[in-house]
Amino acid sequence: MSLLVIGSVAFDAIETPFGKTDKIIGGAATYISLAATYFTKQVNLVAVVGGDFPQTKIDILNEHGVNTSGLQIKKDEKSFFWSGKYHNDMNSRDTLVTELNVLGTFDPVIPETYQDCQYLMLGNLSPSVQSTVIGRLKNRPKLIVMDTMNFWMQIALDDLKKTLTLVDVLSINDEEARQLSGEYSLVKASRKILDMGPKFLIIKKGEHGALLFHGREVFFAPALPLEEVFDPTGAGDTFAGGFIGYLAGTNDISFDNMKRAVIYGSAMASFCVEKFGTERIVNLASHELDDRVQDFIDLVQFQISLA
Ligand code: AMP
Repeated sequence: MSLLVIGSVAFDAIETPFGKTDKIIGGAATYISLAATYFTKQVNLVAVVGGDFPQTKIDILNEHGVNTSGLQIKKDEKSFFWSGKYHNDMNSRDTLVTELNVLGTFDPVIPETYQDCQYLMLGNLSPSVQSTVIGRLKNRPKLIVMDTMNFWMQIALDDLKKTLTLVDVLSINDEEARQLSGEYSLVKASRKILDMGPKFLIIKKGEHGALLFHGREVFFAPALPLEEVFDPTGAGDTFAGGFIGYLAGTNDISFDNMKRAVIYGSAMASFCVEKFGTERIVNLASHELDDRVQDFIDLVQFQISLA
């Protein structure tokens, strides 16, 4: 089933305890699209970059099967730029720079050929742009998943709350869930957030895994204990791309299938953190993904016989 992805396509500069990069390719939609291509063949991107964005990087997306006919190139403007620095625990980071540039005036145009999309991933972007995309689709997709971040909670909370009423699944991290709900307990936070509109809530907890809430049901997926964590940038987006890509590929949005999708998303994210930027999630072999999912199965499988 076809998947429409919107979000940032960006330059990132990243600093971790293990190294530092100059401007490398990043952006929420970049990670989401690349991850989704491992599960579904029709990945359609809507995003905007400036004239400074190298064609070779767009070629990488195309080689992965991402349709970039909805990628606007504003020749005389600069691409979105984000810079972040990770703390020693690699689970938290400070944003050093957010230069919206082309994103500041982004008017998402949905190509006619994208209109039949059944799955919509609203990657991290201004919530008003996210809701504009929903409004510009002639038919409501079967499933709308949305990601967001603290930045938008600070500067556009009302718009964010409006967009939340339009989506099926919200995917955020634990800190953002606490900020959005005003609750420390993630169970209480989930109830408040589910009351805001989405039917499903995913709370990502970095190296501590992810929770999927639906009504009173909850599912937990661990994160794989990894020997090397190099750069967590994009892990959340890669997770989201794996999650919705798996759902689109299987065309099944039951809670049980969402549990599997959370595992596939977690497996994709575990690759992402092993190298800087998108390096590790480009050209993964299918056996690598299968082996990784098997690692997840082995990690949590145990037998107990209760008397
Ligand atoms: P993650 O590590 O999954 O939270 O995502 C990091 C990616 O989000 C980076 O590649 C950034 O380019 C992108 N990003 C950071 N801040 C924003 C923002 N305010 N709007 C859109 N994308 C952003």
